[in-house]
Amino acid sequence: MLDFLGSLERTHLCGDLRAANAGQQVVLMGWVNRRRDHGNLIFLDLRDRSGIAQIVLDKELTPDGHAKGEQVRPEYVIAAVGKVTLRDPDSINPKMPTGEIEIEATQLLVLNDTRLAPFSPSEEAIQNEEVRLKYRYVDLRRPEMQRNFRLRHEITLAIRESLSQQGFLEIETPILTKSTPEGARDFLVPSRVHPGEFYALPQSPQIFKQILMISGFDRYFQIARCFRDEDLRADRQLEFTQVDLEMSFPRQESVFAVVEQFLTSAFAAAGVTLHTPFPRISYDESMRRFGSDKPDLRLPGLTDVRSAFTDEALATLQIDPALPVVALRIPLVGELSRKEREDNHPLFDLKKGAKFIDDFKRLAKGFPEGAAKVRQLAGPAEADFVIIVAGDPAHPVKASDTKFEGRLSEREINVYSAAGNFRTELAKKYADRHQAFRVTEQVVEDAHARNASNPIDGSQAFHPIWIVDFPMFEYDLATAKWVPAHHPFTSPHEADMANLVTDPASVRANCYDLALNGLELGSGSIRIHRKDVQQQIFQSLGISDVEARARFGFFLDALEYGTPPHGGIALGLDRIVMLLAGSSSLREVIAFPKTAKAIDLMADAPTTVSDHQLKELHIRVALKS
Ligand code: ASP
Repeated sequence: MLDFLGSLERTHLCGDLRAANAGQQVVLMGWVNRRRDHGNLIFLDLRDRSGIAQIVLDKELTPDGHAKGEQVRPEYVIAAVGKVTLRDPDSINPKMPTGEIEIEATQLLVLNDTRLAPFSPSEEAIQNEEVRLKYRYVDLRRPEMQRNFRLRHEITLAIRESLSQQGFLEIETPILTKSTPEGARDFLVPSRVHPGEFYALPQSPQIFKQILMISGFDRYFQIARCFRDEDLRADRQLEFTQVDLEMSFPRQESVFAVVEQFLTSAFAAAGVTLHTPFPRISYDESMRRFGSDKPDLRLPGLTDVRSAFTDEALATLQIDPALPVVALRIPLVGELSRKEREDNHPLFDLKKGAKFIDDFKRLAKGFPEGAAKVRQLAGPAEADFVIIVAGDPAHPVKASDTKFEGRLSEREINVYSAAGNFRTELAKKYADRHQAFRVTEQVVEDAHARNASNPIDGSQAFHPIWIVDFPMFEYDLATAKWVPAHHPFTSPHEADMANLVTDPASVRANCYDLALNGLELGSGSIRIHRKDVQQQIFQSLGISDVEARARFGFFLDALEYGTPPHGGIALGLDRIVMLLAGSSSLREVIAFPKTAKAIDLMADAPTTVSDHQLKELHIRVALKS
């Protein structure tokens, strides 16, 4: 039989009670975490958002409460009325914040029972993620999830406060809108009122935030939901949240200063101190040194060891002498066995014209001088694992492989990025041997045990870095056209403007990325604020006037009404929280995420809709049977 609450009001949260509360009458409400029946005494661990308190039901003190205590089961919702008392010294639990006290109940109300869920929130690790997502309401009760969302709240609040203090106004932009060119597929929403017409969900607030600058708001931000119809991975969701901002009259450095300030506040809210300014590196340098435009600085960089080999040695090793020869090393992994090496081979993507030598001992036998020189250049210790990645001469040279003056060629990039991939994949695979990632886990763990007023130094664990001077265009093989490497509102360097049409490969973009521990945290740019330049960019991208008008006509119009120079950036909030929660998946920090198959298992979405709804929307479904 369930009880009604009547006039009872909760007085305290379970986790807040301490020895200083001893003697107070309290009313607690929450879920039964655990129940232990010792005959005349029943102990209930009562859980709410703040933590757990122990309730004692003594048959003599409350026969009625004790009788109900015999009936309750884990996850029942109850109210306990009673007095806070100090525990006997030998039953103090130092592991629980409330371990010095218990509540001697005088009354127990059973407010609700429960169906048996497939798992209990008090279980530590639940293997089956699908079950967790289907019963998300139970899953979210787990202390770890409660902690993640508290953290998310604190981080978001710190960001809002920091940006507000820096003069930014939070302004919402529409969800039902027109396509935004962020390079992903749009989600479309059919219009009932306008048959055959569709809204697009925003891939980002990009165009609107630029228009807000035209409207004179000077500094805008939004914790913005973005929608991109992409294939999902552990660090991607169909809908995700960005800290989106835009400012008028900025230099690139002013955007960096704003971000460094709010990110420092966000990390501080999670108990971690970041040091500013963050280092900067050009895109080319990042590719050369790390084989990636989102370098993980916790591992040693790549070393060009081309000079270690004579031309004859390269020929014998079947290495393309025109391409870089790079060594990567993972500290403390040691020489791998043949079996281990073979297991690794699927990690190596050989299709792109890169090849590798992963048997350093054998290399040292055949080419002792070259191997010695590699050691000298790359600086490995005896216990480090070394791989050499080089160009494959058998790989056919394509038109797009042309070397453009002053810029890394696609073939060079392929060798560097193959090396960069191995570097991070192998480091992940052997994480238990080399410790580089363990430092981050430890700092996150320690930070959780501390708090914002006593932060832990994050400089060894978190390595933010700005990547600047990206190329403006990429050559797209399929269409044989130069395409923007970023959205088409990114401005070119003023100094490179003259080359826009004649030498697009040489044009650098005024854009920047922020990477942290191998994750891209965000990207942004100084925008084009003049219509003539915007038209030139469209032209150089092969976007005709007609197409530009159809896609962004309203924005081109707006550009003609006194547009100030402006620029901004967007950072992935989910990713920031994931890093600081020490989670390996975005699904741990998004309350109701989709699976890798784009399904909301709890709500059971997407689903079919009724014929009536389709008719109203003027839509007919053509299904493959
Ligand atoms: N809209 C861009 C993005 O979503 C960010 C920016 O350029 O501000 O990546």
